[in-house]
Amino acid sequence: MQTPRLEIRNLVRRFEGKRVVDDVSLTIQPGHVTCLLGPSGCGKSTTLRMIAGVDMQDEGTIHVDGDLVCDTVFRIPPERRAIGLMFQDFALFPHLSVGENVAFGLKGTRARKRARAEELLGRVGLTHFIDEFPHQLSGGEQQRVALARALAPRPKIMLMDEPFSGLDNRLRDDIRDDTLSLLKEEGASVLLVTHEPEEAMRMADEIALMRDGRIVQRGAPYNIYNAPKDKAAVAFFSDIN
Ligand code: ADP
Ligand code: MG
Repeated sequence: MQTPRLEIRNLVRRFEGKRVVDDVSLTIQPGHVTCLLGPSGCGKSTTLRMIAGVDMQDEGTIHVDGDLVCDTVFRIPPERRAIGLMFQDFALFPHLSVGENVAFGLKGTRARKRARAEELLGRVGLTHFIDEFPHQLSGGEQQRVALARALAPRPKIMLMDEPFSGLDNRLRDDIRDDTLSLLKEEGASVLLVTHEPEEAMRMADEIALMRDGRIVQRGAPYNIYNAPKDKAAVAFFSDIN
C-alpha cells in the first residue's frame, strides 16, 4: 500500500461544547480526488480549515506523505504545508494581470514564472488573456484562472470548498469537467467539499459521506450510490437520476 498523500486521524473540533467534527479519519491517495459530501452544517468546511492550518483541531493528527503536519501540540503553519486552496469566493487580485495572478505564489525568475503561467493558462484555454485584467473576464473564465493560480506552485494537496457553487447552472457542468481534467493532468491529490451528490458522483474517485460531524460511509461513487448504508444516505442521494 502506498503512503497516503494526506492522512487525517481521529480529528475532533468542538465549538461551544459541541463536537462539530467528531472523530473524523480520512486518507487521500496520490493523484486521487476524494469528495467530502454532506449536507450544510455537517462540518465539512471546519475539517478543511484544519487541514489547511487556518484552524486547529482539539484532538487528532494530520500527516502529509507520512510526515506529521499537525497534532495538538505541534503545528506547521499554513504557508508551509504545500496545500493549494480554492473556495467559492475565489477572488483574483484585481490590480494584477491574469498572468501575474497565476504566477503570484511562484518563486524563480520572471521568465520562468511567466512560462509556468503560460503553461497553465494554455491548459485552461485562456493563454490569450495573459496580459488582461480579471474584470475583463467572465465568471467562468475567472474561475479557471483561479484554478490555474492554485495549481501553479504544484501543491501536494488541493483543498476545494464548494468551488462551483457561485456559478450558474449552465456553466457549472463544463467547468466541473475542465477542472477535473486539469487536476488529473497535473496529478493533483484533491479533497473536494460539496453538498451536491451529483457533483461528487461526477468528480470523485472516492466519496466520504459526512453527517453530523462524522464520516458515515466511504467508497467509490457507484458503490455508495448503489448501496447507501442507511435511510439518510438514501434520502441524500434521491435527487439524482
Ligand atoms: P459545512 O461546511 O458542512 O456546511 P461547517 O464546518 O461550516 O459546516 O460548520 C459545522 C458546524 O460548526 C455548524 O453548526 C456551524 O455553525 C459550526 N461552526 C463553524 N464554525 C464555527 C465557529 N467559528 N464558531 C462556532 N461554531 C462554528
Ligand atoms: Mg461549508
